[in-house]
Formats: sequence, structure tokens, C-alpha cells
Amino acid sequence: MSRVVPPTEPNLDAAAAHLRAGGLVGLPTETVYGVAAHALDTQAVSRIYAAKDRPSFNPLILHVPVEQANLAALDRAGLVRANALDPEAQRVVERLSERWPGPLTLVLPKGPRVPDLTTAGLDTVAIRCPDHPVAQALLRRLDQPLAAPSANRSGRISPTSPQDVLEELGDALGLILDGGPCAEGLESTVVHVGPAGSVTLLRPGTLDRATLERLTDGPVHISEADPARPRSPGLDHRHYAPQTPFLALPTRCGDLPEPLWRRLRERASRASVIGVLCWTAEDASRVPRCLPGVEVHALALTHHGDPHEGARRLFSTLRALDALGADLLLAEPCPPAVDPHGLDFALRDRLRRAATALHDEP
Ligand code: AMP
Ligand code: MG
Repeated sequence: MSRVVPPTEPNLDAAAAHLRAGGLVGLPTETVYGVAAHALDTQAVSRIYAAKDRPSFNPLILHVPVEQANLAALDRAGLVRANALDPEAQRVVERLSERWPGPLTLVLPKGPRVPDLTTAGLDTVAIRCPDHPVAQALLRRLDQPLAAPSANRSGRISPTSPQDVLEELGDALGLILDGGPCAEGLESTVVHVGPAGSVTLLRPGTLDRATLERLTDGPVHISEADPARPRSPGLDHRHYAPQTPFLALPTRCGDLPEPLWRRLRERASRASVIGVLCWTAEDASRVPRCLPGVEVHALALTHHGDPHEGARRLFSTLRALDALGADLLLAEPCPPAVDPHGLDFALRDRLRRAATALHDEP
């Protein structure tokens, strides 16, 4: 069983030694907690896939220290092939990497030192520089980048505290470094930079499309809207899912159209305890009146609707709902307001993968 330890100098040294020997370490970052291994060591990387039960087609992200977080240094280290990018694409990468350290992952031409196992056989590699002092302190002790996908079993809810990591992967890790709760709470925004500096958003995150467009001074395409553009492997299957059956409502409970309302009532009548994910505290106080005759526990993601607070608390709130011992979980739209590609988009993306839509349920 692994231990949660404070990030003291001796514990960081011990974590670095464990990684050099090919072991796994629980790593805090500003997005979610990762399960880290030496990214260029195929045996170590294979331990990540085994611990998570992660499908081998789902590539890993390389985490680098601040000193290496630019195109020239990544190329020198053999992680990226800069000359496979045209000058315009290089300029865009340089602009985007100004946001490092931070919750942004760039998909770039793979360099010669990166094993195929790490990138699931792709000729591109995903790179990120995490904005967390513990992650940086560990990376600086190593002479290799770290592969560090979220420290949960594949498909389950991402961890945002060291206790979550212990619960998910406690048996597989040497140490879990305690870096406190994650400040961002959602996985990084993943972006592909292609010919002529074209930018495609592969996975939405807290760094939103408008910010990316300002940074690159050009359009950012959304991969799901266009099947011809590059896609991010591993995102299509079900993700972030509680173990309790989880249904997403298309509107707030009280606003459901009659046929769906009947369907929900029928479904709710077979449950004795129902957990509901709501957007604001006010929504959570209203919901129980909507479902009379059932024990309802409604948890709000935000006090008054701040999307950053919602992102930070999404995964811990899903865990709390899953721990209720309920027969059924419901999600009201989170957030109800529609900002097509802002932070709202990332939140809706995670919920869409975590829950089944009420109208799709057999
Ligand atoms: P995570 O599981 O949060 O570490 O994120 C890894 C995700 O990054 C994968 O599931 C992919 O969606 C994306 N990714 C990693 N490497 C690549 C790549 N070479 N090309 C496209 N997407 C990638
Ligand atoms: Mg993950």
C-alpha cells in the first residue's frame, strides 16, 4: 500500500529515486493528480498502463520542467522534432508555450527519444509543463520528462486530492506526494498545431478557446465539429464515470418537457435514494421539491455560478455523490448558461462523458 507524504526535500528525493528505478509516484499538478513514471523508460510506462488498466491506444502526456518548456529545448532533448513544423507552426508553438507552466498540452511532431509505447504508436507527442511547485521540484530532480495521466483507474473519476489517489491506485504506487487540492480541477486543454500554424482544440479545459485565439492571433478549430481534422485518441469512450447509474437532464428538473418528466418520474419511482448534481446552491435547495416521495441529496457545484469554482469542484462532487450509496444520480445542466466554447464547454464535455443523457437511456 502506498503512503501519502508531504513534499519535503527528503520525500522529493525518495520519489525521484523511485522514479529512476522505474516505479510509479502519485503527483500533484494544478489540473488533477497524476500517476507519474519516467516517460522514456518503456518498462516504467507499461506500469502506468497496467496500474490504470488503460487501453494501449490512449497516449500519455509528457510533463517537462519550466527550463525545458519551449520548442528549442524540447527539440534539443529529442522529445519533439521542431524541423517537422513549418515556420508559421513554429511561431504558433512559441506563442502558445508562453502559457507554460499551465494547463495547456501541445501535440507536436514526436522526437527520436520518445518510445512508441508512450505515444500509443502515433508520430506526434503531447507535451505539458505543469504549474505546481511540487511537480516542478520533482521534474527538476530528474533527467527525463514524466508521463503522468490522471491517477485513476481508466474510465473512473479523476482525482483532485491525495486521498482520491490512494483510493484509486493505492496498491500500485510507491509514494503519493501531497500537494493539496488541485487549483484547476479539470484536465489540461489539449491543442494540436498543424501545417501553416493551424490550431485544433482536441480536448477542452480551463484554458478556453477565446484565450487560445488571442494568444495565437488566429482561429482555433474544434476537432469534434470536423471529422477531417485531427482527433484525440482515448477521448471517445466513457470517462469520469461514477459507479452509480448517472443520468444527465437536458433542463433543470422542474423545466423538463412532459414526456421526459414522465420518464424521470418512472425511473425515480424505482429508487429510494437519489443524488443530484446542481449548478448553484439555490438550485440544490429547490431540487428536492421536484422529486417528492424519494430521499434526495442535492449537491451544488458552485455557490453562485462561478465556472472556475465549478471546474475545481466537479470531480470531488462526483465522488461525493458516488459515496452517497444512492440508487440513481442525476445531473442538472452544469452550467445552464451557454458560452459555446468558454470554460462552460469543458465542464459540459466532462459531464457528457460521465453521464448518460436521460433521453438516450433505454
Ligand atoms: P490524460 O489521460 O489526462 O493524461 O490525457 C491524455 C490525453 O491526451 C489522451 O487521452 C489524448 O486525448 C491526448 N493525447 C495525448 N497524446 C496525444 C497525441 N499524440 N495526439 C493527440 N492527443 C493526444
Ligand atoms: Mg484521465
